[in-house]
Parts: sequence; C-alpha cells; structure tokens
Amino acid sequence: MVEKHDLDGSVAIVTGAAGDIGGGIARELAEAGCNIVLADIGVSESTADDDSKPDNVEPAEELADEIEATTDSETAIVECDVTDADQTEAMIETTLDEFGQLDILVNNAGIISYSPIEELDESAWDAVMDVNSKGVFLCSRAAIPELKDGGAIINTASIAGEISAVGIGHYASSKHAVLALTKTLALELAEDDVTANAICPGIVDTPMWRDVLTPASEESYDETIQRSIPLHRDQKPEDMGRLAVFFAENRNITGEAVKVDGGITQDVL
Ligand code: NAD
Repeated sequence: MVEKHDLDGSVAIVTGAAGDIGGGIARELAEAGCNIVLADIGVSESTADDDSKPDNVEPAEELADEIEATTDSETAIVECDVTDADQTEAMIETTLDEFGQLDILVNNAGIISYSPIEELDESAWDAVMDVNSKGVFLCSRAAIPELKDGGAIINTASIAGEISAVGIGHYASSKHAVLALTKTLALELAEDDVTANAICPGIVDTPMWRDVLTPASEESYDETIQRSIPLHRDQKPEDMGRLAVFFAENRNITGEAVKVDGGITQDVL
C-alpha cells in the first residue's frame, strides 16, 4: 500500500504566490483540497505605494477570488518579504491565526538578473542570493516547528540548480544552493516525518523570461523553445502545481529534485 496523504483540509503557504508559477502551484494545491496562504511582497495596500516592491495587490486578490470561486478552499493573502526573518515568522503566525495549522510550505519566491560574472555587481549577486537561497532558509526555519508529524517542504529550484548558462552565474549558484538545502532539510527532518523536495522548472513564460532572459538573447522566446526543448513546447505553471501536489501527497519521497523541462537537460550536443 502506497503511503499517501489526503490533502483535504491541509494548509499550504505558497511564497511568490502573486507570480505565475506560484499561482499555478496555489491553484493545483487548492484543487487538491488545501487552504492556501498566498504570500508575496507588494500584496498589501499599505505597501502598494512602496516603489521598491512590485505592485502585486491586484494579481493576489484576483487569484484569491478565483480559487475561492472555483474550489472549496479558503485563502489568505499575507505580505512577506522572504529575505526578512521577522516577516517570515509573522507569516507563520498569521497562518496559524487564520487556519490553526500549517502542513505544506512551498518556497517559490524568486528573482533573476542577467550579467556575465566579470561585470556582475555585488548588489545583484546579493539580491539574487538573498531571495532565492536565504529566503528558502528563513521561511523553512520559521515553518519547521509547525510542520512536524506529516508536513512537507517543496522548493521551487530550477534546471539552473543542476546546470548553468552564460549570464546567470549568480542565479544558478542560488538555485544549486536550493537543491543542497532541500537535501539537508530532508535528512534533518526525516525523524519528524517531514519531507523536503524540489521542483526544477525548465522554461515557463513569465517575467523572468519575457523581461530578462529573452531580451538578453539573440533569439525570440519561441525560437528558444523550438531550439532548446526536445519536446518543442514550454512548461506551464500548472505543470509545477501538479508536481507540488504529488510531493505533498507522497510520504515516501524526500530529498528529491524533479525536472519539468521537456527534456532540455538530457541534451549534451
Ligand atoms: P514571477 O516573477 O512571475 O514570480 C516571482 C514572485 O516572487 C513574484 O510574485 C515576486 O513578487 C515574488 N518575490 C520576489 N522577491 C520576493 C521577496 N523578497 N519576498 C517574497 N516574494 C518575492 O516568476 P516565476 O517565473 O513565477 O518564478 C517563480 C519561481 O520559479 C522562482 O523561484 C524562479 O526562480 C523559478 N523558476 C522559474 C522559471 C521560469 O522559466 N519562469 C524557470 C525555473 C525556475
């Protein structure tokens, strides 16, 4: 008999939930029966005027409304900068106040920038490492006490957690760190029956590609898909959501990283 969790009534936090992949993960977890805490920066009216943050109020509210209209799940929107330890602890407190429990943490918030290492600003290195790697550490540390006895941590890493490319040395370093954290969390939390796994998306049509990687390339987004992906199609946020549900349900997989990349990383020539 396969050890499997029924997710009905579980509570999941998704960081970076106002973004595309976070939205896909939140939708699929809600479909599977979870109540969802949509955590992101720029999602509260009080931060909407802060120019240092994206204005995520509308996307977060639209997603919450959609989930509540199409599933039996409840949602809560929580402002949280994953690089700030106090805010990650407050996110867990708010989750407990709203839902009384926490079962699944999805560390999905992430940023990217493009620069060869020779020209890479120290501030760009720090920003990417802070959100992508330190954010996973801080959110996990804050959540662990509540996840014991059956919880799951799911990290959105990247194929850049295993390989790299010109101009993304800092991003790839941050995602390699996410895979190392995933393995360590799996080992440290096994005695408490908490699993930790990673999703490694390939190419998903989000601002990361539209605004950063495609403009830095000599080809269009569609040309990149046709050239680099053996299956000749890009990946969708919902693909990542379905894998998140699989990881959350399955109690005998831990420390794993699964690539959802249409075969890109199989190609050596
Ligand atoms: P996105 O820009 O649509 O979403 C990222 C979200 O993270 C945004 O909502 C943003 O507000 C949030 N965020 C940024 N800094 C934050 C902070 N300090 N605290 C809290 N939230 C913060 O991008 P996406 O493509 O949906 O990215 C989601 C994850 O998927 C990231 O970890 C990214 O590295 C990873 N990923 C994306 C791709 C791709 O092709 N798009 C490929 C591999 C991995």
